[in-house]
Amino acid sequence: MFCRNCGKELSGSPEICMNCGAKPMRGTGFCPGCGASTTPLTEICVKCGAGVGKGLAGDISPKSRLAATLLAGFLGLFGAHRFYIGKTGTAVVMLLLGIVGCATVWVFGLGLVFLIPVWIWAFVDFIFAIIGRMTDNEGKLIQKW
Ligand SMILES: [Zn+2]
Ligand SMILES: [Zn+2]
Repeated sequence: MFCRNCGKELSGSPEICMNCGAKPMRGTGFCPGCGASTTPLTEICVKCGAGVGKGLAGDISPKSRLAATLLAGFLGLFGAHRFYIGKTGTAVVMLLLGIVGCATVWVFGLGLVFLIPVWIWAFVDFIFAIIGRMTDNEGKLIQKW
């Protein structure tokens, strides 16, 4: 591939370009397929036909959008979807809130103090997952169903 930032040819698909230090797919100046120069507004490389629009190739997570959506919908209270997409830190927070909430909800509804915020949080994640705006732990959009 070619670095999208500096246009240098790179072997394989490295995370960081050895020539300019940028993430090769984050640039907009060159086509990753043939090295032809592109502009930030170019969607398709006119030389080789590769898609070079923002958010294409490299910025899409291999994780399943369907799985993220279902996990957020059914097990969102326990952060299951966040474990799945690799955001373990916030997943643990949700899990703890969910468990504490469920364990104390019968004590004068005390657990609702934990359950309501985590439910809203899970619901927002669920919406993001459905519309394909959720990102995984590498910041890649989860768009593949
Ligand atoms: Zn570079
Ligand atoms: Zn090209």
